[in-house]
Amino acid sequence: MPLDVFINGADFGETIILRWEEGGLVCGGIVDCYATEDGERECFDVCAWLDELRITRLRFAVATHPHLDHLQHFDKLLAKFEKKTDAFYYWGVLEPEMWVEYFEALKMNRSNGAKAQRLPEKAQHALNLIAQAHQMSKPEEGLKLATAQAVTRCFPLDPKRSSMVELHSLGPWSRQRKAYLRRVGQSIDASGAVSEEPGAANAVSSAFLVKYGQAEIVLGGDMEGPNWRALRKSGVCPEFNPCLIKVSHHGSKTGKIPGMWDGGFFGSKRRPLIAVVTPWNGRLPERPVLRRIKRAVTRFHVTGQKSAGRGRSLRSFVHVKVSATGEAEVVTNSPNAGQLFI
Ligand SMILES: [Zn+2]
Repeated sequence: MPLDVFINGADFGETIILRWEEGGLVCGGIVDCYATEDGERECFDVCAWLDELRITRLRFAVATHPHLDHLQHFDKLLAKFEKKTDAFYYWGVLEPEMWVEYFEALKMNRSNGAKAQRLPEKAQHALNLIAQAHQMSKPEEGLKLATAQAVTRCFPLDPKRSSMVELHSLGPWSRQRKAYLRRVGQSIDASGAVSEEPGAANAVSSAFLVKYGQAEIVLGGDMEGPNWRALRKSGVCPEFNPCLIKVSHHGSKTGKIPGMWDGGFFGSKRRPLIAVVTPWNGRLPERPVLRRIKRAVTRFHVTGQKSAGRGRSLRSFVHVKVSATGEAEVVTNSPNAGQLFI
């Protein structure tokens, strides 16, 4: 039985779905979720997609960091899988209740100016998600709520349990978490109002190593340089041998570090090596980064090509089948998520 990986990103918004069979069940995992309302079917497009894939149980759901392109309407998906989701991981730094209060205050703020027009929207979606996960984590509901940091086996959480699919975090690391905590603190004034956007939430973006038998997959989230450097320095996990990589931070310069694509780190030890980039708002990826990655991989896809238009309910994905022996192949891709030839 293979592991199916769907990496979706239509110019703004990223959703990664994993599907495998275990114990007679079609299991799913989701790493970030950017859902939009599907007027035709009167639901949310990612929810409909999980239905199409016949996923009846979410073994894990992950929100890598609190940016809108990674969590719009994620709460709707969690609500749909109420009592059918085992674990939810978020970016941490504060307890869920404190994030709920924080986003509430951020939402109320009217003095953020034009630059921060989308703050209330982002705050509302992040608030809904954390509130939903927190509610589902009550003992009678059964969801395990946890955070991802450093190199840790996140899923399964219980060290005595095993699963065909394991999820290991690759960050964020302590220094960046503290830096973000400081920014959050600075954004709260004496009255408790949140007076500005803390920004730099990428500092707490997690990235993950998914293990499936001998196969390794790197899902880079929006993790940026300082956390990748901390990972390399840690000595815990200096080398990878992935067959599939979701490139971190939409293929930006800040999402990579020197040597990342030169062998050894993401290496080119395994052939074929598939890389997928999801774009961001017409501004990412950056061409020099694409050229560098292209040289290191055997197959390279960029989703969301020619699909500008934020909020569109649009699938733009690459479907990769990964075998437990470590091979990966692209089964299909949307026409607008084709291979990159540069
Ligand atoms: Zn992003």
